[in-house]
Amino acid sequence: MTAANAPLMHHFDRRTKRLAKGILSYAFDRWREQPPLDGPRPEPDLRAEAGETVTAAGIGGARALEIWRDVLAPACISADHPAVLSYVPAAPSEAASMFDIAISATNVFAGSWQEGSGAVFAENEALRWLASIAGMPETSGGVFVSGGTAGNLSALIAARWRWRQRAAGRHDRTRGMIVTSQTAHSSVAKAAAVMDADVADVAVDDRGRMDGASARAALAALAPADRERVFAVVATGGTTNVGIVDDLRGVGEAARDAGAWFHVDAAYGGAAMVAPSRVALFDGIGEADSYIVDPHKWLFAPFDSCALLYREPSLARAAHMQQAAYLEPQQLADEWNPSDYAHHLSRRARGLPLWFSLATYGTDAYRDAVETTLRVSEQATELIRSSGHLELVMEPQLSVVMFRRRGWSTEDYYRWSDRVLRDGVAFIVPTSWKGETVLRICIVNPMTEARHIAAVVDSLATAP
Ligand SMILES: *Cc1c(COP(=O)(O)O)cnc(C)c1O
Repeated sequence: MTAANAPLMHHFDRRTKRLAKGILSYAFDRWREQPPLDGPRPEPDLRAEAGETVTAAGIGGARALEIWRDVLAPACISADHPAVLSYVPAAPSEAASMFDIAISATNVFAGSWQEGSGAVFAENEALRWLASIAGMPETSGGVFVSGGTAGNLSALIAARWRWRQRAAGRHDRTRGMIVTSQTAHSSVAKAAAVMDADVADVAVDDRGRMDGASARAALAALAPADRERVFAVVATGGTTNVGIVDDLRGVGEAARDAGAWFHVDAAYGGAAMVAPSRVALFDGIGEADSYIVDPHKWLFAPFDSCALLYREPSLARAAHMQQAAYLEPQQLADEWNPSDYAHHLSRRARGLPLWFSLATYGTDAYRDAVETTLRVSEQATELIRSSGHLELVMEPQLSVVMFRRRGWSTEDYYRWSDRVLRDGVAFIVPTSWKGETVLRICIVNPMTEARHIAAVVDSLATAP
């Protein structure tokens, strides 16, 4: 195809119509049929099969779509496959995944009320529900950012802003300090590094859980000058490695008594607040100054989506709002501008898939779906406990199950992990616990059944 007969980029002509049908029918098939697990392939193989795709004349949408469907998409692990149990998988609901297409077609600028009021309204409805399940006040508010990493950073920037503001100039050049545990997600330490802040460690119990007494002890152990530097205490609502929820009430009280901002990172585990069987674990989260939960993890939204909620949004706004002549027109009225509540400006309405899914199915369906994954996690725990060759590392609280294979070396675990992915059985990568290589599975997909876990348990019986 030459440039002369290529479709015009911004015209919906006959050829564009055919392309639209092709893309929608690809999407339709992808929703209807669960593809195999798939997996990564070497770059030279992909280059050989895909060929030159970015050329002066273009290869045409039909050909590009074919390459995506036949070569590139199968080189991506199907994160929504029921046997994907690594890291934190993703399982968008049908409605959430489908509506993502509508958002792309509309291309709303969702940074300001002026440009995106309808989208911002709907996102705020979803945020209101997320505040309510945590028991945060009606006046809470926030924004959807790309992920937990961005959410933690933005929350901590707001926390530091409040600390400096309260110090009325005394701490403008003081290096701040964040108090948290080693079992907090790596993004907390990364946020500290980005902000040039220090991290003070809180001791944890043998499951990696932080409680109020240890948070108080860590604060009390600081030199007075260091205690002055503490601007935030971060607790975890479901650690990534083992899914253990910190003592949120106790840690929150310790933070408040120290005059520090209390942030709860519930990126993975926060979804369990919709489950009556687990909600008590989150007692105290309603007192947080900020909290995050990733809808792209266990709330059935596609990537990328993290909900960031603040108890007092005006503080976050003061910390994050960008000032410029060209932004003034959208800042004149006292309206809700999502850009003002995190470290970003332009943004996609990435909260809308969650909103549409909540509106479609109702919050009861969320409760039931999360409970379903918890039941399967309990069945997985029983399968592991009752097998002779496996051993639980600890009793799970949420949907992460950590276990060891008796007698295996680190190499055995990695060899097995490669093999089960290649064989299309499951995607499970090793992790470590107190220096020992072990396995963990994380169940967030309501389509994951006990039989998927049973197949994993069986495949661990023989040599890797
Ligand atoms: C996954 C996770 C994060 C990071 O979230 P991303 O969306 O991957 O950036 C942060 N904290 C916890 C507890 C997590 O589980």
